[in-house]
Amino acid sequence: MGRPLGQHFLFQHSILARIAEAACPQQVGLCIEIGPGPGGLTEFLHPRAKRLIAVELDSALAAKLRERYTENPTVEIVQGDVLSTNLSQWGPATVCGNLPYYITSPIIEQVLAMGPALERAVFLVQKEVADRLAAPSGNRDYGYLSVATQLFCTVERLFLVKPASFRPPPKVDSAVVRLTPRTSLPVADTKAFLRFASACFRQKRKTLRNNLSAHYPPEKLTNLPEAGLRAEQLSLPELIRLFGVLNP
Ligand code: SAM
Repeated sequence: MGRPLGQHFLFQHSILARIAEAACPQQVGLCIEIGPGPGGLTEFLHPRAKRLIAVELDSALAAKLRERYTENPTVEIVQGDVLSTNLSQWGPATVCGNLPYYITSPIIEQVLAMGPALERAVFLVQKEVADRLAAPSGNRDYGYLSVATQLFCTVERLFLVKPASFRPPPKVDSAVVRLTPRTSLPVADTKAFLRFASACFRQKRKTLRNNLSAHYPPEKLTNLPEAGLRAEQLSLPELIRLFGVLNP
């Protein structure tokens, strides 16, 4: 996108209000904002949270924002890299942000890894990423990112945001997504399942037999009815079932 640190800022109040409302429909205890920048979203989020912690890498922006909220003890600005911040350290939280697009996937992975400390996440991301996060099986956007996210959360694509709403405008359309953690996880060993899912999708056009051949002996794969299918043809419950069959 050509901007250092993915700095495309939102100033349109109607959009900022909708994002804040989607993240915190009622007042929440703690909201963590990722990448507050000049603080447009912060202004709409903080009245909806008893405590708001905003993590911003850019030291000049973080300093300005800290100054704006010196009188408000409910808002804390942490200057640092969100990818090296332990997001669970402050307790259960709603996470929200207009994400820096150059690190969207690692941020989402990190937020999903919060486990039970994650109450809800609402992000503004590239539309293409929103499509991948929410895609069901059989859809052209369905892949490892869909499976890895939907394993932990239900995903809703809420609304689109056009480039003209940002300053400066990015080159791509954006969309707001909401991730709501599942109350119980469909597999016990999520790490092992994600390694399996990653192997299944290793080469999207290849069959499961092909992609899994490095991981299982041929006799385990020959009798599987699904072996001739591609991973993108299997829903999350079907992939979980297959994982159980191959790893009894
Ligand atoms: N929330 C603001 C808004 O909507 O106007 C800014 C959003 S802008 C797309 C992304 C913000 O994330 C920028 O302020 C940028 O400096 C910050 N950022 C980039 N990389 C970061 C990182 N690794 N950790 C924390 N913040 C980061």
